Amino acid sequence: MVDKLVNSEANARRITMVESCFGSSGQPLAVPGRVLVGEGVLTKMCRKKPKTRQFFLFNDILVYGNIIINKKKYNKQHIIPLEEVKLESLEDDSQYKNGWLICTASKSFAVYAATAIEKGEWMAHINKCIDDLLRKSGKKAVSVHAAVWVPDGEASVCMHCKKSQFTIINRRHHCRKCGAVVCGPCSNKRFLLPNQSSKPLRVCLHCYDVLTTTKNHNSTDSALRGTNADSSGEDDSEDDDDEKTKGQPEAHDLPKFYGDAEKLE
Ligand SMILES: [Zn+2]
Ligand SMILES: [Zn+2]
Repeated sequence: MVDKLVNSEANARRITMVESCFGSSGQPLAVPGRVLVGEGVLTKMCRKKPKTRQFFLFNDILVYGNIIINKKKYNKQHIIPLEEVKLESLEDDSQYKNGWLICTASKSFAVYAATAIEKGEWMAHINKCIDDLLRKSGKKAVSVHAAVWVPDGEASVCMHCKKSQFTIINRRHHCRKCGAVVCGPCSNKRFLLPNQSSKPLRVCLHCYDVLTTTKNHNSTDSALRGTNADSSGEDDSEDDDDEKTKGQPEAHDLPKFYGDAEKLE
């Protein structure tokens, strides 16, 4: 069980291995009290299409990265503090199965496991880690979560005006508040969403209206809003796009969870 692993050599060895796979592209991961709970490959829904990512579940953080060489080399490391994570199971549809949402204050996205059993294992382990963390810290679960972005392919016209057709020139934008795919004119306002950025972010006109009416009593309000399209320096590119992956996971690598033989009742 996780508590037994804390000071174990096996755990230290596994964490060193994860660090070395990320190399200089990653953060140091070995900190006192940290346990690698499990690891495996999940499909992450990205802006353009679903992509294979390597995930590492620790007892306090969730780490994922791009797979450069399967089981040997990863990059583009992302670290998510579990304290602010909330999971939400997704219904299967004809295209995507065994999925759930990983929601955090700054970013939310969908992932998919290969089988329903694996989905169950991942969700149970992640939720157990979150529960343990919150119980230990006495903190409350974070209630505000970033919107899940609608994938580009799901909108051929603007979801706000329902008219503007997307082309190479008429680019898609994402509302940072609701995640909708919208055209430029329908998202020409910015609003400060402190959980996501210190700069005002692109929001659709609908969300802008809602945000300004609910926020109107805020004194600093006027400083936080802007209509200048270039004000935030933020763009719509995604951090984890378009890498070349060698050694894609073969047929099907099962996720590994450590030391949970007698755990997770
Ligand atoms: Zn529009
Ligand atoms: Zn919106």
